[in-house]
Amino acid sequence: MEIEKVKCLIIGSGPAGYTAAIYAARSNMNPVLYEGLQPGGQLTTTTEVENFPGYPEGIDGNQLMEDLRNQAKRFGADVRFGLASATDLKKDPYQVTIDEEKIIEAQSIIIATGATAKYLGLDDEKKYAGMGVSACATCDGFFYKKKIVAVVGGGDTACEEAMYLAGLASKVYILVRKSFLRASKIMQERVMNHEKIEVLFEHNVEGLYGEKGVEGVKLVKRKGETDETHYNLPIDGFFLAIGHKPNSDIFKPFLDMDKTGYIITEGNTPRTKVPGVFAAGDVADPHYRQAITAAGSGCKAAIEAERYLSEKGLL
Ligand code: NDP
Repeated sequence: MEIEKVKCLIIGSGPAGYTAAIYAARSNMNPVLYEGLQPGGQLTTTTEVENFPGYPEGIDGNQLMEDLRNQAKRFGADVRFGLASATDLKKDPYQVTIDEEKIIEAQSIIIATGATAKYLGLDDEKKYAGMGVSACATCDGFFYKKKIVAVVGGGDTACEEAMYLAGLASKVYILVRKSFLRASKIMQERVMNHEKIEVLFEHNVEGLYGEKGVEGVKLVKRKGETDETHYNLPIDGFFLAIGHKPNSDIFKPFLDMDKTGYIITEGNTPRTKVPGVFAAGDVADPHYRQAITAAGSGCKAAIEAERYLSEKGLL
């Protein structure tokens, strides 16, 4: 297999990856960035981004990512299509296989592979994507001011998303498949006591309906029981909060991760336990998951990589 040597390899093309590429390129690290399966990352699945500082009128998610990509390219970042399919971080220089056809031998690596929101797997989620279906309340909640929304899930994320949405919407339903919430006690109390939030236990989603966008959700109560009931609930927005899956599988044998697969870094830094390997953005962040926090951590990772390479006399 062809082997190419690079100083700084960036894997992933969300705000973390591109920001790392901007900083790394401006520090003469000649970064090579592989974009992965979804160039631009999760933001390309939303419409308008209104909370990224610097855009008072908001910006289309695809446009924002194209701007970040062009900014990285302007300083010489080598942005390529391709998917990292395997790694070997046992010894330096580290090896990353791209598309099963090429090996990159990297002196430093910034992992910015992101996380993928889990969906229920219904056809309607695809049908109404960007038309009332969202997996991010802080991204899209604003569009549901004084409207009715539903959040699926019973964990801390679902409760947090519901609390956030309750500040905007007129009514928030939480659709929980079990008879209890899995969230922490304090979050449970908050949602149960909120006047705008109604928790519907033992409810499963069968589909969505609506002419131009979501107008309601098809529910089944007490699925599989003798008193199983099907009914439609009118809503304007449908939010998934059933967990995220960090895209970290190929690094599992080499890095510390929590039980969900989020990469654990040292303190408040993007350093992993392997010297010269850094993790930035959602792949290492179960808490904030925002474009701006991902961009910030991409910046930190590039600065760390620059220091690492300089100390080794490689820059
Ligand atoms: P969790 O895995 O904790 O919860 C997922 C929820 O979604 C569960 O209620 C689960 O139901 C439900 N669910 C999963 N799949 C389906 C499905 N197919 N249909 C219907 N419901 C489904 O994920 P979270 O994202 O909420 O939290 C992840 C971790 O992050 C947790 O450890 C959490 O505590 C933490 N967190 C902490 C926060 C904080 O401290 N501020 C904020 C947000 C998250 P079931 O219970 O039936 O499996």
